[in-house]
Amino acid sequence: MMPVIATIGSHSSLQILKGAKEEGFKTAVITKKPMVKIYDSFKVADEILIVDNYSDMLGEKFNDKFSNFIFIPHGSFVEYIGYKNMLKSNLKFFGNRKSLEWESDRRKMFKWLDDSKIKVPKIFDGPDEIDRPCIIKFYGAKGGKGYFFVSDEKEFYEKMKNIKEADDYIIQEYVVGTRFYPHYFYSKLDHELEFFGIDIRYESNADSIGRIPPKFSDKINPTYVVVGNTPVVIRESLLPRVFEMGENLVNASKKFFGGLWGPFCIETILTEDMEFYAIEVSARIVAGTNLYIDGSQYTKIRYDEPMSTGRRIAREIKKGIETGRLDELLQ
Ligand code: AMP
Repeated sequence: MMPVIATIGSHSSLQILKGAKEEGFKTAVITKKPMVKIYDSFKVADEILIVDNYSDMLGEKFNDKFSNFIFIPHGSFVEYIGYKNMLKSNLKFFGNRKSLEWESDRRKMFKWLDDSKIKVPKIFDGPDEIDRPCIIKFYGAKGGKGYFFVSDEKEFYEKMKNIKEADDYIIQEYVVGTRFYPHYFYSKLDHELEFFGIDIRYESNADSIGRIPPKFSDKINPTYVVVGNTPVVIRESLLPRVFEMGENLVNASKKFFGGLWGPFCIETILTEDMEFYAIEVSARIVAGTNLYIDGSQYTKIRYDEPMSTGRRIAREIKKGIETGRLDELLQ
């Protein structure tokens, strides 16, 4: 019996389900009531399963139903269920679920990047060390929420006064450059890294400040909440480094936790010296791939058909089934 491709209804679910249907799979979405009309409208989910809480998915109630489901994790999936619950769960996930621990635990993430020879912005041990513009990042919050910019120690304490519950944070050098978030797919079956495209996250309000005169923008604190994504292509001469970073990350993952496969992204900032600085790793599909449901400028070159990341996932699963290697992909 062909498995059903399923995911939680958010983030990149429409793309994932569309791609699964294009590859001939039945699909299911797990969602809350207010979202039902979205999935009714887009017609990519053969089944819409409604839950009150996403954690219900982990309970016994769905054991039978989910026995034939392959779940595709995405950013909201990891946020709603939690990587620790995913590590323990009986659900079948595409990819190596251990990679979700390495993207979520920032100490592990920095170790992984360091071993992959990918530069990261400097992290300061305390506010007294701040000697250049920095970004303060809160780790409990997701999607850049609550991040702010400081230029010295004094500004740090002034701005911290407004923070009610100072949750875990880091003080990180602010890298001035252009953001590039390259999307990759590593095929475990073919041992090959593919480059799928790049996006830039649109962030409010930092990306809007340039639209008003400086005498007004001076008074506005930049914030970095991700609200959308815009497409971008990169200088072709930089592609070797883009590939190298992806390959290094895959190689290091084999050493640390048994490998990274499927879609992933390295969130980077490229400086005028052509140095990439990584600010994050996403060890699963990123929402920026939603720009390329019909394929990207890069997938167009390799594939003679529209190839989204969602469809590529489904194709890998199909190949896993056909070659008797599906179990290797679900760990
Ligand atoms: P993150 O949650 O780390 O992906 O950060 C959210 C956004 O904040 C990024 O997409 C960047 O626009 C911005 N940002 C984060 N870290 C830095 C940094 N070290 N230098 C410059 N911008 C940053």
